[in-house]
Amino acid sequence: MSSSSPKVVEGFPHSVTENSATIYYRDKNEVFYNPVQESNRDLSICVMKNFIALRQKEWDEKQNKRIAKNPDATPYPLRKPRVLEALSATGLRSIRFCKEIVSETGEPLLGSVLVNDLEQAAYESIQRNLEHNDVPKDLGIANLGDATQVMYNHRDKDNQFDIIDLDPYGSAGIFLDGAVQSVSDGGLLSVTCTDLKVLCGNHPEVCFSKYGAMPLRGKMSHEMAVRLVLKTLEAHANLYKRHIVPLVSMYIDFYVRVFVRVFTSPATVKEAPAKISHVFQCTGCTSLHFNPIGKVTPTKDTPKISVSLGPPVGSHCAECGSRFRMGGPIWTHPTVNEDFLKGVLAEMEGHKEKYGHHKRMIGKLKSLQDELHTAPLFHTCGEIANVLHCTTPATAVVTSALKKKGYQVTASHSEPGAIKTDAPVSLIWDFFRCWVKQNPVTRKMADDSPAARILSKEPKEILELGVDEEEKEKKKKRKTEPGRFLPNPREGWGPGSRAHCGKKRKIDEEEGKGKEESAPMEEE
Ligand SMILES: [Zn+2]
Repeated sequence: MSSSSPKVVEGFPHSVTENSATIYYRDKNEVFYNPVQESNRDLSICVMKNFIALRQKEWDEKQNKRIAKNPDATPYPLRKPRVLEALSATGLRSIRFCKEIVSETGEPLLGSVLVNDLEQAAYESIQRNLEHNDVPKDLGIANLGDATQVMYNHRDKDNQFDIIDLDPYGSAGIFLDGAVQSVSDGGLLSVTCTDLKVLCGNHPEVCFSKYGAMPLRGKMSHEMAVRLVLKTLEAHANLYKRHIVPLVSMYIDFYVRVFVRVFTSPATVKEAPAKISHVFQCTGCTSLHFNPIGKVTPTKDTPKISVSLGPPVGSHCAECGSRFRMGGPIWTHPTVNEDFLKGVLAEMEGHKEKYGHHKRMIGKLKSLQDELHTAPLFHTCGEIANVLHCTTPATAVVTSALKKKGYQVTASHSEPGAIKTDAPVSLIWDFFRCWVKQNPVTRKMADDSPAARILSKEPKEILELGVDEEEKEKKKKRKTEPGRFLPNPREGWGPGSRAHCGKKRKIDEEEGKGKEESAPMEEE
């Protein structure tokens, strides 16, 4: 929040200020403002700044190549990015874009921002706020329209947006078809989904209708939600010979936020089946296995794409003898571009004064940066200890043991205690068999329980139970860094409730409201 006092605007006695932007309203129920989403807006600005720099760099390289071929040629200038905020409500986000995405001399780096909403009252509020925030008329343009219609009207190459921001209340599903067509080649799509109840498995049939995939429950469900959204984006893009390249994809507080570039390339579209997998989850011990939809075999010319073999598991789990659920398909390629993420983190760390929620976001981004991006989903120590009814080992002990066997292991940004690794799940169970030998289970268990079946087998590999020097160092270092899983700043931290007017597109109220419920896994 800014410390400078807002203007006095006749007829609009109330105002909210966030960083460079102030929104004005008549009465407190009139407007949809959620302070929780400040972190989303901070992150979006950091990502857009880095995207604009990357776009310029790529353009300059292209021009240099042209000039190298023809020294008489002159470089073409790159037009400033055209932005669409499709579901704006108040204009707050776009005002921040216009005022904060500027050069060192204060020159706006954006060409134009179309600030759209479906509701007349919201449109008027956007107009008012743009004016009272002194946003130049040719930079921030209020628009009254159906978001999908606006995007369909911008499908022509000359008319496309370079950046589209979708921040609906609930699922972004219905907007994706328009978005993947109206963003320019190499352009940026920023997408929020707040319907975590649906994405995390409380209503699998609704998830299938919105995202074309079945969710699974468990501690990894937030990361699975991110991957479900990416899969859906890729599927929509593929229809138009386009594909996505994720830059930053995260689960934050109560929503999913993904930033992807969209490229036109029929050749790359063919490789999509190898980036998407079904997930098998054991109903007894929670073990996860992946079955890619297709596989890519490199050849001398173009790679050969074929249907993959499967399933990767038998009809019953090799560890505990239970059946499997099959979820997905989900995106199982990396969800992050490491170089790009480095730039985003540098922007936020270097300009903390510009980002009100930098404390929460820096810890989160560092956690995302440290993640093993080639290993989809994860197990947690707590979940596995729960299956075996044993004491929970420190994550550093499991991490050290698996690393000693030559595997990569990291934490996750979406869940404390995660073991994100490229080690086979059977090795994790062997670790726990070794752990239980030294820390025996005192609780009585039924002979046919998953725990009894797992512990009746001797470990195939013996793992050491200790913490290595690297993990000790990491622990020490983290004490001086911003926290990675900070508690919510206040009670009721969530998507809030829909406002009476200035509301966003009509989406089933039940789907996006509140934090998703976690339900125990049921045996089938
Ligand atoms: Zn199992």
